[in-house]
Amino acid sequence: MMHSELKVARLFDGERWQQNVAIRWQDGQITDVVPCDASQVTAGTLVPGFIDIQVNGGGGALFNTATNQQTLTTMMQAHARFGSTAMLPTVITDSVATMQQAADTVAAAIAAGQPGIIGIHFEGPHLSVPKKGVHPASHIRPLSAQEMALYQRSDLGICMVTVAPETIAAEQISQLVQAGVIVFLGHSNADAATVQAALKAGATGFTHLYNAMSPLTSREPGMVGVALADPNSWCGIILDGHHMDPIAAKVALAAKPKGKLVLVTDAMSPVGTTDTEFAFFDGKVTRQGNKLTNEAGSLAGSVLDMAAAVQYAVQILGVELGEALRMAALYPAEAIGCADVRGKLQPGYLADMVLLTDALQCQQSWWQGQPLWQGH
Ligand SMILES: [Zn+2]
Repeated sequence: MMHSELKVARLFDGERWQQNVAIRWQDGQITDVVPCDASQVTAGTLVPGFIDIQVNGGGGALFNTATNQQTLTTMMQAHARFGSTAMLPTVITDSVATMQQAADTVAAAIAAGQPGIIGIHFEGPHLSVPKKGVHPASHIRPLSAQEMALYQRSDLGICMVTVAPETIAAEQISQLVQAGVIVFLGHSNADAATVQAALKAGATGFTHLYNAMSPLTSREPGMVGVALADPNSWCGIILDGHHMDPIAAKVALAAKPKGKLVLVTDAMSPVGTTDTEFAFFDGKVTRQGNKLTNEAGSLAGSVLDMAAAVQYAVQILGVELGEALRMAALYPAEAIGCADVRGKLQPGYLADMVLLTDALQCQQSWWQGQPLWQGH
């Protein structure tokens, strides 16, 4: 059995702040959080590890382009530097063969206990062509029996699917949800009634709120209107300063009950690198500062990391730090159904932890008590 202990100056357990505490774990699971002598502590704040439920790449690797184990390792290493301790590698709209390979790779990672990999997110291919964003239109298609079976595989860990509700029957959403699949709505031009029907059928959230979805207007509230008005669903938000104006973010914060906004990165391969361009299907994506665009000028994912999203929430939006940390850990855990073991640093939870500096930079991260990344 593996026992370990860490003494820190400050700890946020997901609910409360504590000073000078020792956190102990055994076999990856937290056993105690107890007061300790201030003379022995490590500087910084220990917080629950961040959980990124939408991440396409990092460290120079993109999951769609290379659906192999090395990509998952590279992505995890790149994002662990920014506090992510768990992720759903995200496959955007692609061929069935690529989706199958991605699923096989994630299944092997989960079977092997690969640090940080807790499932898979299929973003597409059952999307709206007019709201496709940078997804390749040639691969957008209705839901087939083959894909229905793929999403319901029992070896994928947490399986999340983003669909446009106008392209899929409400009964299909119900079937997926009953099989344990997390269904989010996005890349959609649906009217409000169709979106509400999808929620009623079991969809539980919205992918990158405001982006690639029917807008809120006075007489047709669209997907944005339903997403903001519905108190029960989660909304992924990309706080990179490009996908969402701070005013739009404040509207979301005011509209949604606490616990329903989830920070995601939607990160592409350049995160953690100095790459300025990368190949994307038949085209190219270019980076200028922290903005990615394709050749047509559309936003093409982000170079955001979870620590930067937390910083943005606190520094630009004025979100209280504890709440911003919950938006990066506890709320995503709740959105994907793993909040019984992740999202808090309390006895019984997994020791997925991040040590932050006062400037909210990641100093060190752990997955189930094992070091994932350590700064210099
Ligand atoms: Zn998208």
